[in-house]
Amino acid sequence: MQPLIARFGRTHTVATLRAVLDEARAGWRNGAAGLGEDEAVARCAQRLEEGEQPSLRPVFNLTGTVLHTNLGRALFPAEAAQAVMDVLTQPCNLEFDLDNGKRGDRDTHVEELLCELTGAEAATVVNNNAAAVLLALNALAARKEVIVSRGELVEIGGAFRVPDIMARAGCRLVEVGTTNRTHLRDFETAISTKTGLLLKVHASNYAIVGFTAAVAENELAELSHSHGLPLMIDLGSGTLVDLARWGLPAEPTPQQALAAGADIVTFSGDKLLGGPQAGIIVGRRELIAKIKKNPLKRALRLDKMTIAALEAILRLYRDPDRLAERLPTLRLLTRPADAIKEVAARLSLPLQNKLSGHYSVELCACSSQIGSGSLPVERLDSGGIAIRPTRQGRGEGTALEKLSAAFRALPVPVIGRIEEGALIFDLRCLEDEAGFIHQLVSLNVAP
Ligand SMILES: *Cc1c(COP(=O)(O)O)cnc(C)c1O
Repeated sequence: MQPLIARFGRTHTVATLRAVLDEARAGWRNGAAGLGEDEAVARCAQRLEEGEQPSLRPVFNLTGTVLHTNLGRALFPAEAAQAVMDVLTQPCNLEFDLDNGKRGDRDTHVEELLCELTGAEAATVVNNNAAAVLLALNALAARKEVIVSRGELVEIGGAFRVPDIMARAGCRLVEVGTTNRTHLRDFETAISTKTGLLLKVHASNYAIVGFTAAVAENELAELSHSHGLPLMIDLGSGTLVDLARWGLPAEPTPQQALAAGADIVTFSGDKLLGGPQAGIIVGRRELIAKIKKNPLKRALRLDKMTIAALEAILRLYRDPDRLAERLPTLRLLTRPADAIKEVAARLSLPLQNKLSGHYSVELCACSSQIGSGSLPVERLDSGGIAIRPTRQGRGEGTALEKLSAAFRALPVPVIGRIEEGALIFDLRCLEDEAGFIHQLVSLNVAP
């Protein structure tokens, strides 16, 4: 026991051994064989070892969804990771003004950059975009009516629903128009003395197609302003660059929204922006000031890790020409399909060697998704591998489930997707090929 105590600590080791012995005793009472001392120690060691594995750890994302919310969304470039390490391991000027030696404001580390990049007068940041919407609505329209098109009362997933957020923010939702068509006059007739603001929500995870009509942002802004009301736009993903220059489908930017006359624009830090989880609010100076004074801002504020990472990411946007090399999200989104197909070709032999007899391994065409509600209908041409059980018939579903569980049980779990009788690995997001191949020896595929 001494080596275990030295490694895992006395308290934890003793508690684990007790649990092992209690279980053995209970089993013995029910007729199981007793447990010798060596076996008890071995079981204890195994359990301690298993407990060392962190719960939150890296995985291979081979789902084909680049910004996968369940797999942590955007990945940091080295600059951002280093910035986080620096402020974690040393004191920093989080809320300290180095010019005058007085107390500072944590938002200043990113506000200027955000204004420079979006053309906004002012900016503030909170925990995520859901928090940004909640805070902005509460600060600008509590106890007032907020007018939204019926086509935009969206649910984002993870229980973010516009009507619910609106209620929690203390605003009264006024729906106008219909699911597929909303006109300027719908907004116009809904405006009253009780109106607090007009809200436009970007249709990020769905598309309404066919016989549709929506009011242009500049018309909505003009209408709002003629009644002395602000227009708020929740962009959801929001990117600071025109994605079309990399051949990706265009996504609205906060620059465009502000130029069209929006007074407040909210968007995420860890969707297309490619940074840390954060909610970014940009817009008119007096409205941002009001938002910052709201007590909810204190409850939803960012920590120093996130601010450090966000600042590092935003700095990369000053040089859009190098962005696709330096920002992992954009690097993965712009990875050429041919290069991905080459990865698939290189992996197919090692996979075949490992799985032959029980499974067939084939190259396949895939289409990746951006994910996190961005550009929902557009797909990116990609390459992948399809693995199918060789024995057809009844056991098929189970064999696939077992295979997919075996890949998830690897030291770095591999997450693919099951589709039409195959386990599919989309290789767009696989950059560490050697690491992937190396751990195949641990894959336990006993049928
Ligand atoms: C994703 C999204 C949100 C929520 O953003 P989080 O950063 O995930 O909190 C809100 N509104 C829209 C339109 C979105 O697409």
